[in-house]
Amino acid sequence: MAKRFIVLMGAPGAGKGTQAKRLQETLSLPQVATGDLFRYNLKQETELGLLAKKYMDAGELVPDSVTIAMVRDRLLQPDCADGAILDGFPRNPSQAVALDELLEQLSGRVVIVPYIHVGQESLIHRLVKRAELEGRADDNEETVRNRMRVYQNQTEPLLAYYRNKGLLVEIDGEQTIEEVSAALHQAIEAAA
Ligand code: ADP
Repeated sequence: MAKRFIVLMGAPGAGKGTQAKRLQETLSLPQVATGDLFRYNLKQETELGLLAKKYMDAGELVPDSVTIAMVRDRLLQPDCADGAILDGFPRNPSQAVALDELLEQLSGRVVIVPYIHVGQESLIHRLVKRAELEGRADDNEETVRNRMRVYQNQTEPLLAYYRNKGLLVEIDGEQTIEEVSAALHQAIEAAA
């Protein structure tokens, strides 16, 4: 069977991470979250982490060459033998093209792109709350604003890219966590 990849799309604060974590249990596929990979590298003070830091702190995208190489390495790990749930990648059109090329080499394919949609006001509200709870360095107001801008300019165009491929399924992200999970499951099952 071809490897199955699920690409979770949604703005910062839409709940991709929360849902990816829940999905990995039920689908038996690992969550591959680029933000988490960068934060891990930062904590370990690797060269990659130090390079990524200045972009993350500014709410900018880490350069494609670095990001794509990191994802390639991750997808070659044995736990991705059946596929993965991608969370935070791709984040711009050239990353999407790179993913297509990579999956061709890996004999995998994107089976569905759930787009978790949450209105702008709820997003800001959630991110401010997360900043209070988790104290993530990039959840301060200025960086959050820039992450939103970057999302709108660079990531939103991917919605059309995947819609044109017939892969995009919109999920209402303003429901409870359980309801969003249920909707995701239904969509994924229907696509499989
Ligand atoms: P968010 O809640 O903003 O979606 P993430 O944890 O996914 O947060 O990402 C945090 C930061 O990590 C981003 O602002 C960016 O600097 C960097 N990052 C994550 N994924 C990518 C990617 N695919 N390409 C470039 N940079 C990325």
